[in-house]
Amino acid sequence: MAWYPNAKRMEVQPEGDDQPAIRPTQFILHSIAAPWTPRRTYEYWRDSTYLESHFGIGYDGSIAQYIGTQTRADANYRANRRPDGTGAISAETASDDEATDPWTDRQLATIIQLGAWLHREHGIPLRICRTADDPGFGYHRMHAAWSDGGTDCPGDTRVAQFYDVVFPGIVKAAGGAPAPAPRYEPYPGEKWLKSYPTSPVITAMGERLVDEGCDAYSVGPGPEMTDADVESARLFQIKLGDAPEHCDGWLGPLQWAALKIPKV
Ligand SMILES: [Zn+2]
Repeated sequence: MAWYPNAKRMEVQPEGDDQPAIRPTQFILHSIAAPWTPRRTYEYWRDSTYLESHFGIGYDGSIAQYIGTQTRADANYRANRRPDGTGAISAETASDDEATDPWTDRQLATIIQLGAWLHREHGIPLRICRTADDPGFGYHRMHAAWSDGGTDCPGDTRVAQFYDVVFPGIVKAAGGAPAPAPRYEPYPGEKWLKSYPTSPVITAMGERLVDEGCDAYSVGPGPEMTDADVESARLFQIKLGDAPEHCDGWLGPLQWAALKIPKV
């Protein structure tokens, strides 16, 4: 169980002892919609909610850690801990009540140092999470599966800072080059899709459809192509805003490219 040497340790119990182990593969940033110090955030986790994060960062850049990084924390819904034992490390950050203000320079410096340490300590790769399960760095509202019923966290200003300052800063502080540009599955052809194939590509397609909120599955997604895949793909075509004649559940090359299925 790892504790960040630069953070003040304020362990939340019984969660710290009771919650299962994770193998951390992601770092997810939040705004807590309150101008709280790390201690005040600790008191909130201790006294009034079970949705704790691993870290809390105040406006002045001070940082506390509430849960060991190899123990589940509960701020990120399905990313907290997956069936394969992987999970996300989370940090709440002080913000205004609407979570609309920018991170301060001191918060940015602390976030960047923490991100670089998580890369060194846990091997979190220097890339932005392409999907809800993809190892890397992200922010709460980035993927639907990371919140129960949607979230505005963090606000637009901080999302812009994430791309402009936070992620490039972590890459630089970690002394690394960013991971190579993501590679996506090439279009397999409509004929192949219509043959109802069994393939890991179909699982990856289904996972991306679910990630986009286009989920007609009662089980799965899995490697065997089913009518639930076709219906989920149809929902995605509608989401893209394509004309009705292009919303038949069979993805065309441009729709496939828009789905950005990570290479399996
Ligand atoms: Zn959040």
